[in-house]
Amino acid sequence: MINKFLANNKQETLDIVRDLCKIPAPSFLEDKRAEYCKKYFESFGAKNVYIDSAKNVIFPLNCENSNNITVFAAHTDTVFPDIESYPEYREDEENIYCPGVGDDTVCVAMVLMTAKYYLENNIVPKDGVLFVCNSCEEGLGDLKGARTLMNDFKDRVKFFITLDATIGGIITGAVGSHRYNVQVKTEGGHSFSKFGNKNAITELSKIVTEIYDIEVPKKDGATTTYNVGTIQGGTSVNTIAQDAEMLCEYRSDDKECLAFMENKFNEIFKKANDGGLDITVTRVGNRPCKGDVDKVGEQKIVDAYRQTIKEITNEEIKIKTASTDANIPLSLGIPSADIGVYVGGGAHTREEWVNKDSIIVGVHAAIEFLQKLTK
Ligand SMILES: [Zn+2]
Repeated sequence: MINKFLANNKQETLDIVRDLCKIPAPSFLEDKRAEYCKKYFESFGAKNVYIDSAKNVIFPLNCENSNNITVFAAHTDTVFPDIESYPEYREDEENIYCPGVGDDTVCVAMVLMTAKYYLENNIVPKDGVLFVCNSCEEGLGDLKGARTLMNDFKDRVKFFITLDATIGGIITGAVGSHRYNVQVKTEGGHSFSKFGNKNAITELSKIVTEIYDIEVPKKDGATTTYNVGTIQGGTSVNTIAQDAEMLCEYRSDDKECLAFMENKFNEIFKKANDGGLDITVTRVGNRPCKGDVDKVGEQKIVDAYRQTIKEITNEEIKIKTASTDANIPLSLGIPSADIGVYVGGGAHTREEWVNKDSIIVGVHAAIEFLQKLTK
């Protein structure tokens, strides 16, 4: 039954990917992709499909009376800020090339196709499945889509699965992060006549230097990092800079280490403030680490994925840690994972590509996995 479905829908799945690639969707601006996904769900008879306040497209299947719902999701947003069509889009025999094609456009098509398979074959999942094309996974989207989902469905979610990686990899750990915009203002002045006045660039640079003097905590099995990503400021070569700002972050896959870094950053910001500097710190990102997750549930997810991949590609799986939509449910203790479903590369670059044949393999894996997990 599945092979017939895959053969019948190979072309259509590729067409969905092509259509979605041509609808750029920076975080917070996913409206057009959301509309497309809602229409596609409805095209094969999905009922009660809706778009929520965060621009998540949601198709609940047999969820009405269930407190054991499985969320099955992929994100519609991409890291690319363009709101025009992508000029890089091209195809050859083997691949599709387009910014965002792998992360996470093909996976959105797979969620749609999995739902179609369930409806066409009248499969009624015992505990209910929430098929979701969610918003705001990337960057400053800060997992808003996943947050809203968990807020709305809270204790009713038993498993949370996001499709957002290359095939063979499963992510069960959560890299947490806090991100800040830091603005510094000073009196500034003419570079010659006011020489000696405080300069916002040098004051901000001192803060950057202090960040880079932090010794990250060493804890077995944990990785902790920090970064200053952008910096800007000043007026001209002959002006003592009046303002400067930066974006910075720290990350860890361990809750305690993340808290350690939070303290260190706060100390540095406080010291600058206490020293009389006009400094404004705004937290622009807050991704939690993994909480206490039920081990049995987590193992069930890993086993279902391992079996699926073994059956379909005859490969072993790799278990990894990353920052994904699963961070939110994982922080709440809900068994969750990001599963890999395509062959491709160059995520977050304009040269991103996906192997065309791997797309239908991914649909196959998605369907098999979900059935194993919800059996
Ligand atoms: Zn992604």
